[in-house]
Amino acid sequence: MLRKAEPFKIKMVEPIKLISREERVRKLKEAGYNPFALRAEDIYIDLLTDSGTGAMSDRQWAAIMMGDESYAGSRSFYKLEEVVKRITGYKYILPVHQGRGAEQVIFPNIIKNKGDYVLNNMHFDTTKAHVEIAKGRAINLIDEKAFNTDKYDDFKGNFDLDKLERFIEEHGVEKIVGIVITVTCNSSGGEPVSMGNIKGVRRIANKYGIKVFFDSARYAENAYFIKQREEGYNNKTILEIAKEMFSYGDGMMMSCKKDGIVNIGGIIAIKDDQELYTNCQSSMVPLEGFPTYGGMAGRDMEALAVGLEEALNEEYLEYRIEQVKYLGDKLMDAGVPIQYPTGGHAVFVDCKKICPHIPYYQYPAQAVCNAVYLAGGIRAVEIGSLLLGRDPDTGTNIESPLELMRLTIPRRVYTNRHMDVVADAVIEVFNDRDKLIGLEFDYEPKVLRHFTARLKPIKI
Ligand SMILES: *Cc1c(COP(=O)(O)O)cnc(C)c1O
Repeated sequence: MLRKAEPFKIKMVEPIKLISREERVRKLKEAGYNPFALRAEDIYIDLLTDSGTGAMSDRQWAAIMMGDESYAGSRSFYKLEEVVKRITGYKYILPVHQGRGAEQVIFPNIIKNKGDYVLNNMHFDTTKAHVEIAKGRAINLIDEKAFNTDKYDDFKGNFDLDKLERFIEEHGVEKIVGIVITVTCNSSGGEPVSMGNIKGVRRIANKYGIKVFFDSARYAENAYFIKQREEGYNNKTILEIAKEMFSYGDGMMMSCKKDGIVNIGGIIAIKDDQELYTNCQSSMVPLEGFPTYGGMAGRDMEALAVGLEEALNEEYLEYRIEQVKYLGDKLMDAGVPIQYPTGGHAVFVDCKKICPHIPYYQYPAQAVCNAVYLAGGIRAVEIGSLLLGRDPDTGTNIESPLELMRLTIPRRVYTNRHMDVVADAVIEVFNDRDKLIGLEFDYEPKVLRHFTARLKPIKI
């Protein structure tokens, strides 16, 4: 069969450079053995995140020139509103500067009393933070199969529906202000949620009268997985699947830096709850901006209106999901343990299995990330015990259930040739894994330590 290439040709290029190994050793030491502190210039292939790092198309760049920068009632807003209404079927649309902008507007408007619960398959970290800032409690109710990295399952982002219903029964429906479905489930590996599971959540929500919201940063990737893997969806378009999915919700928040394929932007959309809409509208003004721009420039709303359409294109999604799988397969073929099957936006490498000789409090996944930078100038990110931090009460290091290195793939930026280079570097590190050594702190920040920590290799 004829193989398929990337479904685009490259009209503008941005040079990248691999600095010498000696320089990489020096730069990493200067960065306190923390890739967050590296300068982007010193990186060859940057897989830190897929957020805001995608490449815009020629049509998006052309749309940028059409931006209407009117403070109120911008034409660009109405264009964006039309597209979001068409995709979601929702009545009320508010633009925000990014995903967390949506969160800071919506959660204080649904969390009425201290200690109210928000239930999620798995909260993204800023989502959890905004639930807690609004004095709510963030509960994860994902199916346990998500933690079995080497066992295949079609939908490792699914809610455990029994656990969900039991939680509602045990804690009382009056204390539960909303259920959020994160599609795809970022924190479990970009793993999809099935339509059957979404319908199941809706059934339970209807039974108890609870509102359902989508955290829809990667909803198009999720729809593609449904089309590929769930019975009854193979003949539907991605747009039809997305519309059906949104029909089971009361509203959605979106970081458009992912499936909007823009560098900055976000959305709140509400199905028909006029009171929630007007409340969000008035909270927006001091936090984000006037409701027809909400933290976005007119030109950015134009680029987003186009990007949302492009992300629903099936050839694009096929390339996107296949590229992640391509990297995952190369690693698996060489014996590297990963979260399997690969999800929508990243390959998660299971570092607990790679270096069982490094205990969690010496950050095995960080050691692997650093070694991958030294091997190939590639930047990955630790998702494990360094990220998790300390117990606020006892001050002890918390042991993460998984020690992962995330290789996050930006949209339309790298070719599969780049993925070959990434695989070579990771495999080189894997084959030399006995030589990896753990890390200790030189400087440990009090909060969100992984961003600005300085570390050093343990002396042996
Ligand atoms: C990125 C992300 C957010 C937050 O969005 P930002 O644009 O980074 O503020 C929220 N939820 C999920 C699932 C995300 O991936």
